[in-house]
Amino acid sequence: MSAVSGLNYVSTRGGAPATSFTGILLEGLAPDGGLFVPERLPRFDAAELQSLSTLSYPDLAWRILSRFAPEWDAQELRRMLGDTYSRAVFGSDEVAPLRTLEPGLHLLGLSNGPTLAFKDVAMQLLGRLFESVLQRRGAELNVLGATSGDTGSSAEHAMRGRRGVRVFMLSPWQRMSPFQAAQMYSLQDANIFNIAIRGVFDQCQDIVKAVSGDLAFKARHRIGTVNSINWARVAAQAVYYFKAYFAAARREGEPVSFAVPSGNFGNIYAGYLAQRMGLPVRRLIVATNENNVLEEFFRSGRYRVRATAEVRHTSSPSMDIAKSSNFERYLYDLLDGDARSLSRLWARLESDGVFDVSDTPLWARVRASGFVAGTSTHADRLATIREVQRTYGTIVDPHTADGIKVGLQYRERDVPLVCLETALPVKFADIIREALGRDPARPPGFEGLESLPQRVTVFDPAVAAVKEFIAQHTT
Ligand SMILES: *Cc1c(COP(=O)(O)O)cnc(C)c1O
Repeated sequence: MSAVSGLNYVSTRGGAPATSFTGILLEGLAPDGGLFVPERLPRFDAAELQSLSTLSYPDLAWRILSRFAPEWDAQELRRMLGDTYSRAVFGSDEVAPLRTLEPGLHLLGLSNGPTLAFKDVAMQLLGRLFESVLQRRGAELNVLGATSGDTGSSAEHAMRGRRGVRVFMLSPWQRMSPFQAAQMYSLQDANIFNIAIRGVFDQCQDIVKAVSGDLAFKARHRIGTVNSINWARVAAQAVYYFKAYFAAARREGEPVSFAVPSGNFGNIYAGYLAQRMGLPVRRLIVATNENNVLEEFFRSGRYRVRATAEVRHTSSPSMDIAKSSNFERYLYDLLDGDARSLSRLWARLESDGVFDVSDTPLWARVRASGFVAGTSTHADRLATIREVQRTYGTIVDPHTADGIKVGLQYRERDVPLVCLETALPVKFADIIREALGRDPARPPGFEGLESLPQRVTVFDPAVAAVKEFIAQHTT
């Protein structure tokens, strides 16, 4: 099968020139404030799906991702996929093993990468893609970000030692779990800079916004990001929905449902993408924590972003979000790529902080798109961790527990359900202790992580000091 040639990417708001996959790879938002999406989606018919069903993870990734990046040198892309989706990086040749809890109920293991959370699956590839493009252009990129845990460590582990890339990652000093802090601060690579701020995560994020908002500084120091709106990350995540589908379906073409712990809507949007590419996905079950922006939308048709002060700090912290960035791509698709209508909705969101589609034709499309949603609370999380441990003898992390809780609520007879495991419990020892009265097991290689020497610079929350630090280390 030959790749579609010349696939272009456009902005959801309609105001950016069409660009290739390589052209958008290092960009964040489109220049008009929208998100990049491919002009048309590749599709697999039933016979092609059948031909994908027995492939190894790297071969499957190649068949899918080469359709999104047809201009990329085939040999190089294949090599990078082989290096990324390997036993060396993800602990097994399967990369994303499907574990059956009981007939028709499965757990998809996405947390076997270097930082023990699902973000590694896409980020590990992104590191290689970035390095390749930067080498070709003889260019450099300084990735700047703020993290409360998973994203930062996943980005650092993906970019460490890569030529042409430096990472400046802000984190709230002494406010992450000791395990999460050690995952970042113990990195000794010369291109990784941990900047701890005496403050909370929101202050870190404000500093990042202020630094990137200084356009002259941003250009001079070649500042970029690796956030979850990056199309390459979304596309790379679609691969494991195919992999899981083939492992869970009992016969060709059987519909399968997925339950996904959700925040920025990147993970579950990748499932929607897989469905639009032809995969027989029945339900896409959105699980939120107490920060229920998405659950509210799928229940009522109202999309209301939260003020920073309204975001609750929960025991599934990687889903503590004010808005769900990738959600824009989903509505754009339901609007058949009508950038003008999409822009109107987002203009309303910017002025009023909310829009409501329940009395528009779009709502029927939302209802028909396969999405359902539910919320899981701290008490639900504890109960689910206990229940899963008692019934299936396995310990799940709090985010995965949210997914299982809501997934079971929407499970249908005779439809296989795949729950996505988005992190390992060892990253969130406090809630595991609270639920089970003991510590989660530590995978081999992580013993003594917290006592390794750490490399971190601590600052008071001030933009100028952070800028000066970046300037010193980029020239
Ligand atoms: C990032 C993250 C999520 C949320 O994923 P989105 O793509 O933002 O919806 C869920 N669980 C864990 C453990 C995460 O790190």
